[in-house]
Amino acid sequence: MKIRTRFAPSPTGLLHIGNARAALFNYLFARHHGGEFVLRIEDTDRERSTQHAVDVIFDGLKWMGLDWDGEPVFQATRQERHAEIVAQLMEKGMAYRCYCTPEELAAMREKARAEKRPPRYDGTWRDRDPSEAPEGVPYAIRLKAPKDGETIIKDLVQGEVRVANAEMDDLILLRSDGTPTYLLAVVVDDHDMGITHVMRGDDHLTNTFRQAMIYRAMGWDLPEFAHLPLIHGPDGAKLSKRHGAQSVVDFREEGILPEALCNYLLRLGWGHGDAEVLDREEQIKLFDIDGIGRSPSRMDYVKLGHLNGIWMRRADDERLTALVMQRLEQRDDLNHDETVRARVLALMPGLKERAKTVVELAENASFAGLRLPLSFTPKAEKHLGEDGKKVLAGLEEKLAALEPFTAEGIDSTLRAFAAEHELKLGAVAQPLRAAMTGTTTSPGIDLTLAALGRDEVLARIRSVLPA
Ligand code: GLU
Repeated sequence: MKIRTRFAPSPTGLLHIGNARAALFNYLFARHHGGEFVLRIEDTDRERSTQHAVDVIFDGLKWMGLDWDGEPVFQATRQERHAEIVAQLMEKGMAYRCYCTPEELAAMREKARAEKRPPRYDGTWRDRDPSEAPEGVPYAIRLKAPKDGETIIKDLVQGEVRVANAEMDDLILLRSDGTPTYLLAVVVDDHDMGITHVMRGDDHLTNTFRQAMIYRAMGWDLPEFAHLPLIHGPDGAKLSKRHGAQSVVDFREEGILPEALCNYLLRLGWGHGDAEVLDREEQIKLFDIDGIGRSPSRMDYVKLGHLNGIWMRRADDERLTALVMQRLEQRDDLNHDETVRARVLALMPGLKERAKTVVELAENASFAGLRLPLSFTPKAEKHLGEDGKKVLAGLEEKLAALEPFTAEGIDSTLRAFAAEHELKLGAVAQPLRAAMTGTTTSPGIDLTLAALGRDEVLARIRSVLPA
């Protein structure tokens, strides 16, 4: 059997990380087994679905490197097929028309509440003769769900889960306006698309019982189900804005690399021994459903930052430079021309050792685009007192004469200068760093100067010295 999984988001909001993780798991599972991973946009809620949300989904999946097979299926285009299945269920006697008005249904719920029963449809029209149907009243179509026995799902993560059929009511398949319900559409689409494994959040478990009834009524085989425990905030509460980033776009904004986010989401709720840092190839090789844990996971932003640092150090310098430049280009207080880009690229090996996010990386790289005169942090200012300026004045001459102007040559020049003036190397490097960056941190001072280039170094030194 060829494995076919799907990701079936509703385009009504963000690409939440719970969904993103479901997409990743479905993707990895399909790729691990040489199967297919397809995308279905569940846009049947026409009022809440937006093109923007569809774009966010496409964009987010592409960014995470989760390429789907074939063209995406838009659920709303399949309404005729959904209605056709309902007609078949009617013919089989597995569905019936319900003429209850909204008022009657509200009264039914009210009564159940008063009697402290869960609000369920009471089956008013289940066994009534169609000839009793009122004239001209719109009707919904409901599934004639089994009333006895149990519905059992052998979930690949949760184990066997069951519910007494008496606890479930006759769900609506087609609304009175003729539109299919979500429960129906998902079943028909999963069946028609040949989905073998449905992996989704365990908030869908009650839907699964109801969907199983539709499969059985049609005489279709059920797919395998794997319900994933949800992701909570670090405090164990439902993940919310208060906890910080929660959508894929938020993480990108915050400077997380997609491979770090995928690696993190994979490890959140799935494990394989003590494997921690896994690239895509290793993920595909190792992923399987038996590694998925049963308890909810807690989002750990610190751990994500740590993993991001690891992935940044592994990332290609050109790619990181492009990401940094995109951010610097947003700032009109900086230059961001080709010269600046070349400086950032030259500094990248040093910069990426220290930053945990692309935001930090861009911040630490921003001195490369500063315009003169610089402004200084109070700490940097301290290194630019009389002593500092004396050092800079002395170095100006040496650096102007240095040939070639390389990191190595700069290093020897600074050391020789320190020795000559009986100074510690720090006493030479710190004023220089302050003059170059306006701060007290940068990659190695020799690399920093080499990346800026002689002309810029001299211009920055001169701009802090008295005219
Ligand atoms: N469209 C549903 C959602 O976004 C998912 C349906 C499913 O995976 O079966 O929650």
